[in-house]
Amino acid sequence: MLVDSFGRVATDLRVSLTDRCNLRCAYCMPPEGLDWLPKPELLTADEIVRLVAIGVERLGVTEVRYTGGEPLLRRELVEIVAATARLSPRPQVSLTTNGIGLARLAAPLAEAGLDRVNVSLDTLDRDVFVRLAHRDRLPDVLDGLAAAVRAGLTPVKINSVLMRGVNEHEAVPLLRFSLEHGYELRFIEQMPLDAQHGWRREDMITADEILGLLNGSFDLVEDEPGRRGSAPAELFLVDGGPARVGVIGSVTRPFCGACDRVRLTADGQIRNCLFATEESDLRAALRSGASDDDLAARWIAAVGGKKPGHGIDDPSFLQPSRPMSAIGG
Ligand code: SAM
Ligand code: SF4
Repeated sequence: MLVDSFGRVATDLRVSLTDRCNLRCAYCMPPEGLDWLPKPELLTADEIVRLVAIGVERLGVTEVRYTGGEPLLRRELVEIVAATARLSPRPQVSLTTNGIGLARLAAPLAEAGLDRVNVSLDTLDRDVFVRLAHRDRLPDVLDGLAAAVRAGLTPVKINSVLMRGVNEHEAVPLLRFSLEHGYELRFIEQMPLDAQHGWRREDMITADEILGLLNGSFDLVEDEPGRRGSAPAELFLVDGGPARVGVIGSVTRPFCGACDRVRLTADGQIRNCLFATEESDLRAALRSGASDDDLAARWIAAVGGKKPGHGIDDPSFLQPSRPMSAIGG
């Protein structure tokens, strides 16, 4: 098992399939994009499946989430999902995507064994979308969401990040839209993970503020208080339920003590935390002929050194040198 020195067990593996993206969300990437990883440094589909299989079949991983960058840009995505769903014991297989291209891919992905999808949507206003993501692609995202429902990838979840002065006025419309369509909405506090290092605490819309914005229009009651477990979202029943909304206070209400996640970057590095400053290079080991036992041992050691928390509030906090898009959000 992947146990750290504080007794937390990592069972939720997040795999970045590419650091590339077709959007430029302001909280993630600069408008001009980034220097993408050179192709030879990316894990091949076979390498990804081999490492995921080690995680699932030897190390107790029970959920595999593919992310990025934008995972729908990875050509072999359907094959990677299919191979993951064939592992034994079969893990839950999910995807976090900006939704562009999902209209075409939702059905083949569901057929390949994808269980669930999270689609990122921060605004319902086309102009705000262009301002926030620097591309005019809102209709593609909305088509992708609808296709996910048709393909049975339900409940479809929406991730929203609110930015002060940009889309904070959309908290209520985003929840109304989600309720109308049966999507499960989660607001995520903006974290210091942008490539530009532009995050400022004062600009962050906190979980308290998000709840304040929603409370004016909805009756929110915490769902199963105290039962958050390792789930980052605090869930609230909306107007008596059964619909719920989640708030992920990654910064102001950290859930590090119950964290069950471990990450594999697109270039084959194990990261035991989004905010880790060290990585463990499985790609080099894999390409120099390491056995599955050896790779598993390296992975166990990488998780063993996980810190107790992200320390964003510590004066000594250092933002990781890799941005979210390269780590795998
Ligand atoms: N491109 C895909 C997408 O946008 O869903 C997958 C990768 S993206 C890095 C994963 C999630 O991280 C998205 O929901 C995005 O909104 C979120 N995210 C990116 N940068 C963030 C930040 N600085 N703080 C909080 N969430 C962030
Ligand atoms: Fe791309 Fe996702 Fe980052 Fe937006 S949050 S720029 S969609 S990787």
